[in-house]
Order: sequence, then structure tokens, then C-alpha cells
Amino acid sequence: MQILLVNPPIYDFACFDYWLKPLGLLYIAGFLRKNNINIELFDFLDRHSQYLDKYIPDKEFSTGNFHKIKIERPAILKDFPRQYYRYGVDNNKFCDYIKENKFDYIFITSMMTYWYPGIEEIINSIREYSDAVIVLGGVYARLMPEHAKSLKPDLVFSSDINSLPEFLNKHTTLKGLKSYDYDDLLPAYDLYENNSSAAVFTQLGCPFRCTYCAIGNLNPVFRAFDHDCIIKMLDYLEDIGITDIAFYDDALLYKKKEHFFPLFKKIRDKNYNLRFHFSNGLHISYIDEQVIEMILSLNTGRIALSVESLSDSFHTSIDNKTDFKHIINGMDLIIKSDLLLKDIYVYIMGGIPGQTIDEIEKTAEFVHSKGFRILMNEFSPVPTTPIYASYQDKLTDPVLTGKSVFGPIFVNNVEKYQALKNKIKKYNREL
Ligand code: SF4
Repeated sequence: MQILLVNPPIYDFACFDYWLKPLGLLYIAGFLRKNNINIELFDFLDRHSQYLDKYIPDKEFSTGNFHKIKIERPAILKDFPRQYYRYGVDNNKFCDYIKENKFDYIFITSMMTYWYPGIEEIINSIREYSDAVIVLGGVYARLMPEHAKSLKPDLVFSSDINSLPEFLNKHTTLKGLKSYDYDDLLPAYDLYENNSSAAVFTQLGCPFRCTYCAIGNLNPVFRAFDHDCIIKMLDYLEDIGITDIAFYDDALLYKKKEHFFPLFKKIRDKNYNLRFHFSNGLHISYIDEQVIEMILSLNTGRIALSVESLSDSFHTSIDNKTDFKHIINGMDLIIKSDLLLKDIYVYIMGGIPGQTIDEIEKTAEFVHSKGFRILMNEFSPVPTTPIYASYQDKLTDPVLTGKSVFGPIFVNNVEKYQALKNKIKKYNREL
């Protein structure tokens, strides 16, 4: 039995590798290994893949540009005034690979729903050059199972990883698979030949219910992984030569006495040869002197803070994560500390319905005036959320939900929105 795991290419207007890794697929690799099944990985988004003709050097902290080619926009976006790209290893390399190697099953993962054209491309290539049974899973397959079926894989797996053994035992010739908890699995990063970064989770789900986010639908039960198991995973990642670890958790500081402090004390005491990035946005309301002290005691790279907006009414109606008082308090504590502001990015939200350009601009100006860099999180409506439901009739194709597309088309004036984005770029260059 031979299974190929595929992370497909991305079709989008912009994309940069901030530790973007197919973590769910790598856990599935760990699960298949535990069941003694032979696996291989073809990651189109591996920036150091042997299938790339040109070496693309890393930027800071093992981040970097993907190999990209210009492509035509989908017909539904023909009037959208931006260049569209395909990111990742060229398709002919993949076709040669599956012609030369026989696989019984090919598992394809998925992330953003609006990246589905990359999956369609891969499914078409597999149909042409391989007899393997195609199983499509991942976030897109979970959020839009009917649309995923329209791409014509053999099977769509639209549940969480815990149900995968049952699904495979029932629908495939893979019989008698044993199930394992996340704590018992290692994401199989060693499948990469030349990779120095890893994304990890220390928790599953999220205790918050921001109205624009589908995490609560994908993983309704919030729980932290066992700390000793996280340490075992970090030991493994260090052993295989990883240098940069990005925490994908959003609510890392929630119940910090039970999770953040004891876990990071253990991490600090291990004195790892690893650099840690809090890239998904630490909630600013939970920042205090002890959190800053812990971060300062670690080998830290990029730190992101989740602020989203200065407007209290934004937070009361959308995310309940913070308010103006806590934003000021958190920022001032950081400014007084020894943390380097140049390493800190503040996430602000842009393009969410109901939000004016003026409100985004005020937030950006304030964050800049405090000396922080700004990362504008451009809003993309996610299936299963209330905002998506309210636009569903207009969203006739998932590409219309793209983060570069939705705001300019449905929410904000394109020119004003672009001018604001340019202003934010200018602000960041000044720091
Ligand atoms: S805190 Fe983050 S992960 Fe949690 S619901 Fe809000 S956006 Fe989603």
C-alpha cells in the first residue's frame, strides 16, 4: 500500500510564506505511519523542493517568496484590476512524479476555500496520469463539501482527523486502521528534505466565537494538548533540523496560568536551539508584565498582536476579544519593556462589512503612532459563518470570497482601499 499526500498549489493575487505548512496533512502522515502505511509527500508549496528549477533564498526567520507564475484570472474576476498568480512547484514536475511512481491512494489537503482552483488542477492531472483513488480533505473540504465534490475526487473527507480511521475503514480498502489522539502523533515534518521551519498547534479549537471565524465550527471543543507531548514534538523538530517554530494558536494566552506559563516554562528550561514566532496574534488583553517577561526569556522572532480595531463597538459586535482600554494598556506595557518594537506586528482588520475606511485608517494611524508595524488582515467571508450567510447569494463562486477580492468588490471603494493599503506600507517602511 502506497499513499501520496499532496499539498496543492495556490491560485491568488498575493501570497507570501509566513510558515505556511499543511499541518493537518502532516498529522495524517503521522497517523498513517503509526499504522505502518508507506507514505510520500508532494508539497507544491515547499519553497526548497527538489522540483523547483531555481533556488529561492529564505527571507527573515525562514519565511520567503513562493515560486510563482502569472496566470489568467478566473472568468468571474475578469474585470478585477490585479494580476493573478499560481504559486508553487510547476505542474509538469508533479505529472512526471505520478507517472514514475505508483500510488494506491492520493490524499489532497486544502486550506482557503478560494484556493480551490489549485486543487482542481491537481485532480485533473491525477486523472490523466494515475489510477490512484483520490481523497480530498482539509479545511475547504470541510467547509464546502458539496463544492469539493464538484471537483470530482473519488472521496471527500469532510470531518476532523479523529474520524479519519472510521472513514477510511468504511470507504477504502485500508482496513483495520487504529485511531490515535493528536497527543500520540507527530506531524511528519521529516518528510521534507530541506526545511527549517514548522508550524505547530498547542491547542485545538478556540474558546472565542468571533463572528467571522469558522474555528468553532471546525473544532467545537476547545482543549490544550498535553504539555509533555508538545515538548516531545519540539524535541523531534529540533532533532530533524528545524530552526523556526510558528505557533498557529490564536488563544495561546487564554487561561495562561494553566497553559501558557507552565508550557513555556518547560520550553524555556529545555534551552532549545529553536526560534519561536507568535505569528497568529497574541490577544492584547492578556498581555501583562509576566507574559512579556516570559517572551523575553525565549529566543523569539516575530510577535504578532491581535488588535483588529480601536473601535469598542467593533469588538462588542464582532469578536469580544478586547476593547480600547486593554489595547492601550497592552501596548504601553510592551513599549515600556525590552521587547523590540520592530519585531512586533499588530493585526488590524480591513474590509469587514460595516467597517468604514475611516475606521480602519484611524486604527492604522494609532498603531503607527505607537511605533508598531501593521499587518492588515483583509477580511474574507468564511462558509458556515453569519457574515458569509448574509452574502451567500452574491458569492456564486468561492474565488469571490478571496481576501484580496471581497473587500474591494463588496465593501469598500477600490481606490480608497488601495490608497489605505499603500499608506500602511509607507508607515511600516518608516519604522
Ligand atoms: S480568537 Fe481567533 S481562532 Fe478564536 S474565534 Fe476568534 S478569530 Fe477564530
